[in-house]
Amino acid sequence: MKEYLSSLLPRRGFASMKHWLCLFLAAAAVFAVSACRTGADADLPPGFVHVAEAVPDAILEVRYYSTYNFIGDRIRGYERPVPMLTVEAAEALKAVSDELIPMGYRLKIYDAYRPQRAVDHFVEWSKNADDTRMKQYFYPDLDKTVLFPQGYIAAKSGHSRGSTVDLTLFDMRTEKEVDMGGTFDWFGRESHPDWCGNPETKQYTGEFPGKTTPAGRKINEFQFANRMLLRSVMLKHGFKPVDTEWWHFTLADEPYPDTYFDYPVK
Ligand SMILES: [Zn+2]
Repeated sequence: MKEYLSSLLPRRGFASMKHWLCLFLAAAAVFAVSACRTGADADLPPGFVHVAEAVPDAILEVRYYSTYNFIGDRIRGYERPVPMLTVEAAEALKAVSDELIPMGYRLKIYDAYRPQRAVDHFVEWSKNADDTRMKQYFYPDLDKTVLFPQGYIAAKSGHSRGSTVDLTLFDMRTEKEVDMGGTFDWFGRESHPDWCGNPETKQYTGEFPGKTTPAGRKINEFQFANRMLLRSVMLKHGFKPVDTEWWHFTLADEPYPDTYFDYPVK
C-alpha cells in the first residue's frame, strides 16, 4: 500500500495540474459563452441578422408581436418585436433603403422572417370559424372559412425561409405612412399589385378587368403610383413581388430556398 501511494505521488501532482487546467479551461469557456449571450445578436440563428442592425434607417412595426393584426392576438413565436432576415436579404434591403432616403422616404417593416410555428398559428386560427374579432378591419368582404381554401392563409409561408419581407413607405415630409390605398394584410383583391393598373407598365387604368369586390372599391392614381414606387425600388435591388400583395417581396436569389425555419423571433 505504501509503495502504491508513493508511486502515485508524482502522478498525483501531474493529475492535479491537469485537473486545474481543465477547471480553468471550463471556466474560460463558460465566460466566453456568457459574454456571447449578452451580445446583441445572441439569439440569432446562423446566417441571420436583425433588421435594426442591418438597416438602421428602417422603421419597425412588427404587427405579429402586437395584437393589431388579422387575428387580434400576439402570434406564436414572436418573442420580441425585432424583425430578422437572412444576411443576403438584409443587405439588399439596405440598398433599397439607401436609395429611398434621399427621396424623403423610409422603409417601414411589418414582418420579415416568420417562424413555422407562427404559420401554424394562422392555420389553427383559420379553422376556428367563431373567432372573427378583426374581420371588419382586415377581411370584411370575405367569409373567414374561405381564407385557407382560397390561399390567403397557407400551411407554409415563404417568410419562414428568411428572405421575405412585408413593408411599406414612410414619408418624412408628411410624417405619415405613404397612402397605398389599403392596409398591410388586407385580404382581398384590392391588395393585388395589378388593382386599377398595370404593374409592368406602371400605368394607372382605374379598372380591374375580371375582378370586382362587393364594395366596388378602387384606388386612385396616386395610391397606385405609391405602390409602384415601392415595387420598382424593391425589384431594382433583387427582390421579386407576388401578384396578391403589394407589400410582400422575396429576395429572388434567396440563400435557403428549401428550408422552413422555426427559430423564434427574438
Ligand atoms: Zn408577406
